[in-house]
Amino acid sequence: MKTLNKSIALTILGLSSFISMPQAQAAESIIQPQKQVAGYYQHQLGNVQITALLDGTNYLNPSMFKGIPAAEVTQILKKYHADQAKGVQTSVNAFLVNTGSSLVLVDSGASSCNGPDFGSVHKNLMAAGYKPEQVDTILLTHLHPDHVCGISAKGVASFPNATVYVADAEANYWLDPKQAAKLPQDKQARFKQTVEKIQQAVQPYQAKKHFKTFKLGDKVKGFEVISTPGHTPGHFSFAFKSGNEEIVFVGDIVHSHSIQFDHPETAIDFDVDPKKAVQTRLAQFSRLAKNGQTVAAPHLPFPGIGHIYSKDGKSYQWIPVHFKD
Ligand SMILES: [Zn+2]
Repeated sequence: MKTLNKSIALTILGLSSFISMPQAQAAESIIQPQKQVAGYYQHQLGNVQITALLDGTNYLNPSMFKGIPAAEVTQILKKYHADQAKGVQTSVNAFLVNTGSSLVLVDSGASSCNGPDFGSVHKNLMAAGYKPEQVDTILLTHLHPDHVCGISAKGVASFPNATVYVADAEANYWLDPKQAAKLPQDKQARFKQTVEKIQQAVQPYQAKKHFKTFKLGDKVKGFEVISTPGHTPGHFSFAFKSGNEEIVFVGDIVHSHSIQFDHPETAIDFDVDPKKAVQTRLAQFSRLAKNGQTVAAPHLPFPGIGHIYSKDGKSYQWIPVHFKD
């Protein structure tokens, strides 16, 4: 906007005839980027109300996508108008599910673990009309900081009445003190830093015995647990049915609505086991495209709710929900 002269800018705003000079100077600030409204979105599924909660957005370096030539990454990003100087915009979302008998939070955002761009889940949950004390259950797809850190702040549980559930394989991997030594030397420091954040987040719940694990075959508060390993060893998705409808909280089986839909065999740097992560994505995308379940994803553009479509069974398309007031 700075390249526009003042009279053009004011004409665009439709204000030219009303503004005297000192006000015109003030009006320049009107056309600066404004803060968005609170980041929550309600989606009704049968008798269940799902509230997508935005934690924040920032940018990924395109070089984080693995197993695809860089030129192809650029081409796809251009096609989606996602090719920006700052990188690939990504979102962190969490989902609050009001089942009628329980208030369940699926993932919780990054709190202060991943910098100042994130940490809005708590605020947006309250803006949506809920109170943190009403949340009785927290389901974590995995223990990466952008999913677990939001459960606590400065060593205090942010959801004082909630019990936290994560897969036993996931808890064993990150919380086993012997795990770091099993990793290659060059990966140990990063692993330990991540573990420290996870421990701080779960500690207040462990202290109250409100930290529990589940395994394949278990049901938690009516949610079916689906093993979707690769991104992390104990990564799980969660499915909830209401009437004839089903929603699947897929977690981090996908990080990009552009590259990983056009080329689902593309891994991302964060995957602990990239090969397995790709196998999981291919299997889940195929199943979700075929059966048409509603999908809720933490890293697809907010609100991260939509459907997966495939024309040929090889590449896919993300069909976001239409905004409904
Ligand atoms: Zn994540």
